[in-house]
Amino acid sequence: MVILTKIKSEKRNSIIIFFLIAILLLLLVSCHQHLQKENPYNLKIISNVSDYKKLISINPEETLVDIEKLIPGIVLDIRYATKNNFTNQQIYSSPKAFVRKPVAEALLKIHTALNSKGLGLKVFDAYRPYSATMKFYEVYPDTNFVAAPWKGSVHNRGCAVDLTLIDLNTNTELEMPTLFDDFTTKSAHSFLNLSETVLKNRELLRDVMTKYGFVQYEHEWWHYDFVGWQDSDLMDILFEEL
Ligand SMILES: [Zn+2]
Repeated sequence: MVILTKIKSEKRNSIIIFFLIAILLLLLVSCHQHLQKENPYNLKIISNVSDYKKLISINPEETLVDIEKLIPGIVLDIRYATKNNFTNQQIYSSPKAFVRKPVAEALLKIHTALNSKGLGLKVFDAYRPYSATMKFYEVYPDTNFVAAPWKGSVHNRGCAVDLTLIDLNTNTELEMPTLFDDFTTKSAHSFLNLSETVLKNRELLRDVMTKYGFVQYEHEWWHYDFVGWQDSDLMDILFEEL
């Protein structure tokens, strides 16, 4: 009887162990699939808030700053928080613009310099979570206009900004070669078949941006990268989590 009970108990234990191993394997597989989905190219991406907090406690310069809070009067028109963008889908849940601290400080200087001329900045996009870059490439797989997901975008690093100039008196955009996210050769800096005014406006934006530490992107007159962006990590954290 004692032997029979012992055998039964051993059988029960092995069933329990079998199920525990099965559950563990399932968890491992699902975790792996999750990572595959989010980061199939094995990039170094900060994708959870605790890692981000750790990073900024070591290096506060990496803090993603809310542009609207730092720069009074800056205008935001965050297209990816609406359906009015090339994906025809709302990508962001809120119309926010964040960039790393030194980038935000440079934008403040630019906006202030422009204000003395009766002009200001209007921002279309700034920090962009990596998962949005994946989505963009799915919709428009042309790496001249959409960042390659196997590299990530400078927007994912919080060091790029898409923007234009506005006239503060009329609150309207200065005329530029194209509208934002026009994926044609007309958006390139090398495109010269434009009116004097448009050429002057594009040059004005380029001059002020490059003066304060940005470099232009050849294919898009609206996109600027902050010098030294390579030192900032790619991120996949939602605006709400910042
Ligand atoms: Zn851009």
